[in-house]
Amino acid sequence: MKLSHHITHLTGDSDGWDVFYRARRMIRDGHEVTELTIGEHDIRTDLSILAAMDVSARGGHTGYAMVPGTDSLRDTVAARVQARTGVPTTRDNVLITPGGQAALFAAHTAACDPGDVGLFMDPYYATYPGTIRAAGAQARAIQTRAEDSFQPRAGLIEEQAAGAVSLLINSPNNPTGVVYSAQTLSDIAGLCQRRNFWLISDEVYDTQVWEGSHISPRSLPGMDQQTLVVGSMSKSHAMTGSRCGWIVGPETAIEHLINLATHTTYGVPGFIQDAAEFALNAGTALEDKISAPFIRRRAIAIDILSRQHVIHLVPAQGAMYLMLDIRATGLSGEAFANALLDTHAIAVMPGESFGRSAAGHIRVAMTVEDEKFAASLGILCDFAAGLAQKSGAA
Ligand code: PMP
Repeated sequence: MKLSHHITHLTGDSDGWDVFYRARRMIRDGHEVTELTIGEHDIRTDLSILAAMDVSARGGHTGYAMVPGTDSLRDTVAARVQARTGVPTTRDNVLITPGGQAALFAAHTAACDPGDVGLFMDPYYATYPGTIRAAGAQARAIQTRAEDSFQPRAGLIEEQAAGAVSLLINSPNNPTGVVYSAQTLSDIAGLCQRRNFWLISDEVYDTQVWEGSHISPRSLPGMDQQTLVVGSMSKSHAMTGSRCGWIVGPETAIEHLINLATHTTYGVPGFIQDAAEFALNAGTALEDKISAPFIRRRAIAIDILSRQHVIHLVPAQGAMYLMLDIRATGLSGEAFANALLDTHAIAVMPGESFGRSAAGHIRVAMTVEDEKFAASLGILCDFAAGLAQKSGAA
C-alpha cells in the first residue's frame, strides 16, 4: 500500500545518529560502553512522585482525564509560570500535553498552515525539523556560529525569513548548553513583532541554568500575544517516561489547541497529572536534587578541560550537556566520535548530528556518575591531544 508523502518524508536526510546506534549495538553484543549520548538523567523519578502517582491511580484517577488537563494542574502550571516570569497567567493560558514533544507538534500546528515555513535555530534538538514537517509546514534551519557561542543573530534570521510564519527557539539550549542573553531575546522579540511571527519558545530546561538567568521571551513587552511556550516535567523532575508537558499561550490559541488535543492525544492520564502536580508543588528542593549531579559534573568538566588547550568548551550555561569544539584535532565531530568509540568505547554525539552549525564539535551528556564521567572526560582529552599532535594542528 502506498503511504502518504507526508509521513514518508518527515525525516530522510541522514540523521547523523550512527554513532549512537553503533554504541547501542556494541552494548547489545556484550561490550562495555560509556554512553555520554542522550539527555536522560542517570537517576529515576523520585519515589515521592511515584507515591503520589500510586495514590492517585489507586484512588481511581485512571479513566479519561479532562482533555485540556485537570483544573488543578493547569492552575499549578499557570501559577508557576506567573511566579517565574511575572506575566499574568491563568489556566485558560495552559494546555497539558503528553510531554514537550507533543507540545512542539501542537504549537506548530497552531502557528503554521500547510506549506508555510517554520524557522528553527541550528544546532537543534534532533526532532525539530521532523516535528515542523509533521505539522505540515516546511522546516528551515537558520545557522548560528560557534564564534558567537551559538547565540542567534536576529539579522541572520531575518535574511532567511521569506515565507516564514513561526520561529522556534530553545534556551537553555540542547545541544549547545547556551542560555540566550537578554539582548538576543529582545532582538528576536523585535523580529517576531516586525514580521508577525509566532515565537515558539522551547523552555524544557528552564530549571537547569548554571550561569546567567533564564528569560522567557513571553515576558517581553507585547510578546505574550504571540508566544507559545513549551514546558515539560521531563528534565526538571526526571519524569521523561511519564510524558507530561504543556503549552502556555494566548487564550484563543489554547482554545484551538484544546480542540486539536481532543482529536489527537485526548489528554494525559489523570494519575500522571496528579503526580506532576505533586512534583511542581514539592518546591525547589526536589528540582535542586535533580539538577545537583549536573552542577557537580559541570564543575568537574571545567576543571579537567582547564588543564589542556586542544578542546575548547562552548560556555556551558545550562541544560545537561557540554558542547566541545574539537576542531584543533583536525577531525570532524563525526570522525572524532567514531574513533573515540572504536578506541576507548566512549560514545559521544557528533555536533553534525544537530545540524551544520555544530560541525567540528561533539556533545557530551553529563549523564553518568561523577567518577566515570571524570575518567571518561580525561580519556577524551588525552585522545584529542594525541590527535592534535599527530595532525600538527595544535
Ligand atoms: N525539547 C528539547 C530541547 C529536548 O531536549 C527534549 C527532550 N530531549 C524535548 C523538547 C522533549 O522532551 P519531552 O517530550 O520529554 O518533554
